[in-house]
Amino acid sequence: MTYWCERAWIDGGPVPRVRVVVADGRITDVETGVDAAPGDARLPGLVLPGFANAHSHAFHRALRGRTHDAGGTFWTWRERMYAVAARLDPDTYLALARATYAEMALAGVTCVGEFHYLHHGPGGAPYADPNAMGAALVQAAADAGIRLTLLDTCYLAGGLDVTGHTPLDDVQARFGDRDAAAWAARVDGFGEHAHARVGAAVHSVRAVPADQLADVTAAAAGRPLHVHLSEQPRENAACQAFYGRTPTALLAEHGVLGPATTAVHATHLSEADIALLGGSGTNVCACPSTEADLADGIGPFRALRAAGSPLAVGTDQHAVVDLLAEARLVECHERLASGERGRLPAAALVDALTAHHCLGWPDAGRIAPGQRADLVAIALGSPRTAGVAPEQVVMAASAEDVRTVVVDGRVVVRDRQHVLGDVGALLAAAIAPFWEGS
Ligand SMILES: [Zn+2]
Repeated sequence: MTYWCERAWIDGGPVPRVRVVVADGRITDVETGVDAAPGDARLPGLVLPGFANAHSHAFHRALRGRTHDAGGTFWTWRERMYAVAARLDPDTYLALARATYAEMALAGVTCVGEFHYLHHGPGGAPYADPNAMGAALVQAAADAGIRLTLLDTCYLAGGLDVTGHTPLDDVQARFGDRDAAAWAARVDGFGEHAHARVGAAVHSVRAVPADQLADVTAAAAGRPLHVHLSEQPRENAACQAFYGRTPTALLAEHGVLGPATTAVHATHLSEADIALLGGSGTNVCACPSTEADLADGIGPFRALRAAGSPLAVGTDQHAVVDLLAEARLVECHERLASGERGRLPAAALVDALTAHHCLGWPDAGRIAPGQRADLVAIALGSPRTAGVAPEQVVMAASAEDVRTVVVDGRVVVRDRQHVLGDVGALLAAAIAPFWEGS
């Protein structure tokens, strides 16, 4: 199959009249400045590489529109989130994640990093298959037509205060394994799939005591390793009080940082933290729609990039599933915090949208021979994008402008229609059980 793109994003900018030749799910040839040949599939507008949604908790989609006007804090929001978590089983998880991943595909996502900690049954009893919940996510991604990196999350403690770590509560018991070794043994038993890789995650310094970090890091060798980092000032205060250092310094000391690691949020950092993250080449995933919704704060993403940290973006709690908006918000929040425009060039925002390497897929994220054939065609004549210069499309387009999505050579979205049909209806059916009686 050959796609002829009116314009395609190649080497940091839009290039006109590009033929992309695809065989067995990979790009085999790219010709620029050429006309379409008979039989080419035409993609009008601007074709970007597929988007990587680097931070997702699929089940949070059930909370959209249910918490945003509730007042309170991150911590009161977490209570509502736990109430949904308590009602999930492998079947309801599959239905909810399938619909959520289909919504992501409509927004141009070709691979999702699922930060997965809902491992066990009620009260923490393992399912007959101890990875049944992870298997539901792998199936959900296959059904939705996207790739998945299952960031299987080590979650051992309920929280951290000045006296140390607290035990898991009743809901959190479902997240926990006995210790890092038990977590690693369970993860080890989970096989890989053509569309799904297994990675690892440290939930946070709140949920994993420092003496367990080395075991997690060792088990994660050769895989992507993600960690929630300094999303809230309270985490920093507790870590400082108990360990006498910042969460970033604690992770650095225990060998967690490095180019295979991705720090999620990285909101409340010191200058020394930024130097540790950037100097180690640790990736940083911004989730600005979530960080705004939860009143987390604004992370120093330009400084992190300048220090050496590649940026990625994620929709996290899925209050919005629009990766283009997410990338744009990184720049907009930088402007609000600094009083300056042009903090990150558009090409840097596209790099953040396509950071598949931080999910363990270094052969995705560029339109080039040898890469996976992930293509996202953005309309340039919509009410939002008419008149827009193609090189600035990320500052104007929304998920609504994603017309066609190709994942590993397969067309998953055609003219805004997902292969599963009516994604709104799928979401409604999957979410309704969580709110029955409320
Ligand atoms: Zn998260």
